Amino acid sequence: MFNPKTDILALDFDGVVLDSIEECLTVSHNALALYRNCPDRISSPGEIDGQIASEFRRLRNFIRHGQDFVFIHLALQQGNRIQNQRDFDSFLAENERLNSVFRKLFYEERARFIQEDLSGWLELNPFYPGMRKFLEDYCNKERLFIITTKLKENVLAIFDARSIEFIDKNIYSADRKTGKIRIIEMLLEKYRIKPENFHFIEDQVDTLIQAKSTGVNLYLAAWGYNDDVQSKRAMDARIPVLTPEDFFSQFGN
Ligand SMILES: [Mg+2]
Repeated sequence: MFNPKTDILALDFDGVVLDSIEECLTVSHNALALYRNCPDRISSPGEIDGQIASEFRRLRNFIRHGQDFVFIHLALQQGNRIQNQRDFDSFLAENERLNSVFRKLFYEERARFIQEDLSGWLELNPFYPGMRKFLEDYCNKERLFIITTKLKENVLAIFDARSIEFIDKNIYSADRKTGKIRIIEMLLEKYRIKPENFHFIEDQVDTLIQAKSTGVNLYLAAWGYNDDVQSKRAMDARIPVLTPEDFFSQFGN
């Protein structure tokens, strides 16, 4: 049983709290355009070919880092047929030399978007229904965390613009050096908390399966970026799959 007074609740951000797919589609399109030196920057996902946008949504399930969105566009432009996580990870490995430049371009493009058109940027970053109220009303904010691969400054930009109070130090940004699993382990140590008193909600099934080593309670957010195949992988790994109703009734006030 979850007890908000003593337990830690940690949420992934994109695909759990925030539906950022349209923003990521737009920003990563522009990052690749910049890389190719072709100035066809767009400001709305509606400007992208419908078939590309729908494939992007399908491949979204496999991403772990911001720059991975740029790799999705690259794979689609090259006509690369990616069917599963393994295909996507091999594609990333084959193109490893582009990783740092894609990362730099992706985050620079996002920063430019925020600076030039904050309201347009926020419009492409809606909260999932009920999530804003959940964060605002949560009864023990000291024990509410975000563990995300988004830059902390991007999460704060969204909270600040929407006047949501969230304890700054409870936002942890994972990267390749310090991944989400390491962050969970650090939090268990820092707060001297047993794994059974730690609950992590995430929409990426692969990350959850890897996080089993921590011993904490794991849940797949079915409303995020995953499909039936990935839900089944979670269930096979004995990771509960939550609907929004399950989530709000288990973790809400
Ligand atoms: Mg996610």
